[in-house]
Amino acid sequence: MSDRDDFKRTIVYGENAVGHLRKNELPAYPRNYELWYSYAAGFNHALNKSINDIIRARGKITLGELEHLYEQFIAPTRIGERIDEVGGRLSAEINGVAGLLDKQMASTAVYSTSLGEARAALVGAEDRDRVEEIVGGLIEATHETERVNRNLETQLSESRRQITELQESLEAIRYESLVDDLTTLANRKHFDQTLDRLVRDAESGGPAFSLLFTDIDHFKKFNDTFGHQTGDQVLRLVALALKQNIKGQDIAFRYGGEEFAVLLPRTSQEQSVVVAEHIREAVFSKELVKRSTGENLGRITISIGVAEWRPGDGAAVMIERADTCLYAAKRGGRNQVRWSVEPPTGAGGVRVA
Ligand code: GH3
Ligand code: MG
Ligand code: MG
Repeated sequence: MSDRDDFKRTIVYGENAVGHLRKNELPAYPRNYELWYSYAAGFNHALNKSINDIIRARGKITLGELEHLYEQFIAPTRIGERIDEVGGRLSAEINGVAGLLDKQMASTAVYSTSLGEARAALVGAEDRDRVEEIVGGLIEATHETERVNRNLETQLSESRRQITELQESLEAIRYESLVDDLTTLANRKHFDQTLDRLVRDAESGGPAFSLLFTDIDHFKKFNDTFGHQTGDQVLRLVALALKQNIKGQDIAFRYGGEEFAVLLPRTSQEQSVVVAEHIREAVFSKELVKRSTGENLGRITISIGVAEWRPGDGAAVMIERADTCLYAAKRGGRNQVRWSVEPPTGAGGVRVA
């Protein structure tokens, strides 16, 4: 997708968002703008449905309702804020444990002082009554220490439970931060990390690997004809075709918008072209029918570029080569797989349906 396309598309969403703010007489705070921008972009279906329900029922949205919608639909996706929240709770819990350990040490120190004093007093004890008094004091101090320890144990085990829970939350956030919501494929961030790792491994003598880059053909027209929501269903369908045609250590990613990537460790270009061909066929073989209306939407096709790692390739070089092949596939008429034949440049082979 070119910068120019991004510019045109996002300006429309932005203008749309301002229009909604104006119509509903709402302040254009960044949060409110963000909410309407998401609405205009139409990618968050649950949000759009709730807004549409309110508008249908009452014609207008109040600031209170907007804040509620923000909390419900936008805020949960703010991973940074959730990390801050979990981090804050974790550090409070750790401070709590440190406090408990201090108490434990203080209690042990008091007990040890009591023992020392008792020992000194026993040496000088002159009669049975005095000994009984000292021993009584010791029993008392022991009971008190036991009570404090039991209390600390309970509090420590509660802290332990809380910390385990917070660790699980962090793990869930880490997982979500690497997954694309719409398609549940790995996301762009995950792609960047994985590609860097594969390049590093290959550079230090590990096996070569391949990269597939794919882009849906004429998707803008599809969206314009059938709407964004139907377009999103197609993105899910393409994601499924990717998932179903890879195996082992291969990972499929949503690279962005309607562009996908697959990283295939230990896989040659030749083998990767076969995988790419299966994916292309899987997408092409599906006749799309709109579930709600039964309307036949025809077929969609995808173009794929394949690049195999070559000594000296960094991540950017591989992406560029796969991208060059992808665009060769587009120029060649779309619905095809292309790969690079002659190092270091040139997009080669062609498979046409
Ligand atoms: P080409 O065959 O050359 O790829 O043509 P194209 O129309 O697919 O062009 P391009 O790859 O630039 O398409 C970008 C379009 O993809 C713009 C937008 O309509 C659509 N798109 C991008 N992201 C999304 C998304 O998340 N959901 C939906 N429904 N559409 C998206
Ligand atoms: Mg594109
Ligand atoms: Mg496209």
